[in-house]
Amino acid sequence: MTDARAVTAFEALLARTGGAVLLIVDERLRIVRAGNEAALLADRPAAELLGMSLIAAFGSASLDAVAREALDSRQPALGEAQVGQLGSRSFTVDAVPLNGDGLVIALSDITPIRRVERVRRDFVANISHELRTPLSSIKLLAETIAAGAIRDAATTQEFAGQIGREVDHLAQLVDELLDLSMIESGESKLVVEAVDPGLLVRATAERIHPIATRRGVAVQELAPPAEGAAVRALADPTRLGQALVNLAHNAVKYSRPGGEIRLGWEVRPASVRFVVADDGIGISAAHQARIFERFYKVDRSRTRDDSGEEVVTGSAGLGLAIVRHIAEAQGGAAGVESVEGSGSTFWIDIPRAST
Ligand code: ADP
Repeated sequence: MTDARAVTAFEALLARTGGAVLLIVDERLRIVRAGNEAALLADRPAAELLGMSLIAAFGSASLDAVAREALDSRQPALGEAQVGQLGSRSFTVDAVPLNGDGLVIALSDITPIRRVERVRRDFVANISHELRTPLSSIKLLAETIAAGAIRDAATTQEFAGQIGREVDHLAQLVDELLDLSMIESGESKLVVEAVDPGLLVRATAERIHPIATRRGVAVQELAPPAEGAAVRALADPTRLGQALVNLAHNAVKYSRPGGEIRLGWEVRPASVRFVVADDGIGISAAHQARIFERFYKVDRSRTRDDSGEEVVTGSAGLGLAIVRHIAEAQGGAAGVESVEGSGSTFWIDIPRAST
């Protein structure tokens, strides 16, 4: 039997350590004492846990294994276990043999740490993927030129042009990553001022015009709202301008040649809504929910570059993540309404300056 002094010490510990998952089990791994957190984790009342086997209570083979190791070796054992529905939470497990028989088991929740690690791993995998494709084409093009396989100057020039475009895509990817990391970390200081929405929309239209013209897409400025003359948005004009250009660039990119994009703004009770609309390919409801995530792309094969060429690179799926971060960093929000096949309207809401 588990010794009485240990149980008393355990009760004292339970009373002091809110949040930790603590258990005592006997030599057959049946639960002798369980704290409230253990009950929550097992999703049953603490009283019901008493007498249950560890595996029946928590359904975690990895937890059971650490406990068995401590029992067999009569030494403290440390490990990691997946517990909860479908092993949804991760814990470090500390199993310490008692003087009599049995163990004290302490679990600490490391789910958030594991989640951050997974996000970081996915991030690195995504970046590697985005870098690898243009790098392989550059290598291939350069090798072909170096091998002397190309006889005429025109083809050499074409290859050199392709290398240049791939390098541009890589540079753009690096810029976007740096932007995202600066905005996310809050390192990029916002210079917020009262901004005239009309001027910002005009500037965006002017910046996107050359790219749109090259794609045969018209740029239309929507009429300003009647009540809007004195309305100002509280924004960092450089950052917000960057977000609007990103949206306008996408609108052009996903328009059909001969299409039209519309830029404008509306007055809302507490905010100014900037809109960028197109009558391009649109986005299905399922994808709308995810396109603001980093690296999310609906379908690579549909992406075309500014000259209308199919591109494999240069579209990393970072643009909208940057847009949303910029909007949120200024106390605003960004979103989309879209019908697949007939177009999309992206919007950014920015708080209004009090007048
Ligand atoms: P990308 O660099 O791939 O354009 P974004 O983050 O800007 O990355 O966009 C993510 C995805 O959202 C795009 O790959 C595209 O599938 C979709 N998307 C963005 N804007 C539009 C739009 N105006 N019309 C249709 N699809 C769009």
